[in-house]
Amino acid sequence: MNVSAFHRFCSRLSFTLLVLIGCAISTHAADKVIVLKAARLFDGKSKTLAQNGVVIVQGNKIVDAGSNLPTPTDAQVIELGDATLSPGFMDGHTHLTLDFSGNYNERRLKEVDLNVSEQAIIATRYARATVEAGFTTVRDLGSRFVGSKEFVDVALRNSINKGVIVGPRMLVATYGIGATGGHFDPTSGFRDMLFGHEPDFSQGIADGPDAIRKAVRFEVKNGADVIKAAVSGGVLSLADEVDTPQLTPAEMAALVDESHRLRKKVAVHCHGDQAAKEAIEAGVDSIEHGSFMKPETLTLMKNKGTYLTPTLMATEWIMSKIDNYPPALQAKAKAAAAARSDMFRNAVKMGIKISFGTDAAVFPHGQNAKEFKLMVDLGMQPIDALKTATGNAADLFGVAQKTGTLEKAKFADVIAMPGDPTADITATERVSFVMKEGKIIRNGPPSVPPVAVSPDADPEIPAD
Ligand SMILES: [Zn+2]
Repeated sequence: MNVSAFHRFCSRLSFTLLVLIGCAISTHAADKVIVLKAARLFDGKSKTLAQNGVVIVQGNKIVDAGSNLPTPTDAQVIELGDATLSPGFMDGHTHLTLDFSGNYNERRLKEVDLNVSEQAIIATRYARATVEAGFTTVRDLGSRFVGSKEFVDVALRNSINKGVIVGPRMLVATYGIGATGGHFDPTSGFRDMLFGHEPDFSQGIADGPDAIRKAVRFEVKNGADVIKAAVSGGVLSLADEVDTPQLTPAEMAALVDESHRLRKKVAVHCHGDQAAKEAIEAGVDSIEHGSFMKPETLTLMKNKGTYLTPTLMATEWIMSKIDNYPPALQAKAKAAAAARSDMFRNAVKMGIKISFGTDAAVFPHGQNAKEFKLMVDLGMQPIDALKTATGNAADLFGVAQKTGTLEKAKFADVIAMPGDPTADITATERVSFVMKEGKIIRNGPPSVPPVAVSPDADPEIPAD
């Protein structure tokens, strides 16, 4: 072969290689089309269900969704029968790294013993139970371990995003921010200086506007997607009253200003009415719990467009296991439970924006969907309850461009539940099919039944 023939041979060879590589890339890009079919479809925003629901998926996105859509040729069809397709549910208030559903004092004793790395491994089970229950996105509102400084929620989120473990898409808060001795102070209720020092901004504890700003900046630096703070007392904390204000208006203003500058939403734990009023005025994005909010505070919320995340499951669980808690906490739980039903009924009547949220960890992970029935029992229409966990939640989370509804170009986060959830809202508790970003997580019975995540076997710490 002379020199020019050799060059011709080489250029032909490189052309052939390019064609082969090109084919390989285009074959990879042309992901298989999956068509999901069921008797009904809820799109996450409409007032009624559509009949003969079809969702067409390619790769990690929805190609189309609606009624009686034609099936593309060569598509894989998954026939789900007498079921309802829905966007993957979203829970606005979880703690996937924790479990405080068991006996309060036993868990409190164990929490000082368990290695945080072990907690992280246990948390992978909670993540799986949650996504298998149909919750494909969660806001994880606080993760902390007394005496340790770790970002287990960030690690969990990242491991899920990288495909190392299976779980929901997580927007994490790292440490809840709060005052010394307040609901989020992890050392409250323990002997003074048992852990050798007072917690500071590096565990979310901050006093004064400048310290609050520092805590927000520290959390964003370490991976927070959303900022959580406690502006009033809480039920599962030993050293405070449930409805007292715990941040000043100046601290709340700094909290909201700093978070919004960094383009993070602010979710505040708040049971008390006065604290809620001040937090809404300060411009927070959501009030979590809101047990004691009076109608005039709800009116303020309505005018400001602030979301309510009711977490009815939390009080429901605590009241059903009341003997698991010390007397001081029992009294706080009873007061919050007595107030929250009227507050929620008023919020529904007044048309307050409501996002689904449960406080999972107070009860065993994977039982999140029980919140739907509690909302319907307190006067919410079933279709509106479904919206709280789809379109509304996506709006609050700031991810409505990507997920929350079954629409073209959104993530293929699709679930199915048996029958018609608008006729029997408990169908949400029997999700039978879960797809997240086009990947089928389950089609049939769950691999980790919620009951397998034992409330008493997992020693964790108190939090929100
Ligand atoms: Zn909480």
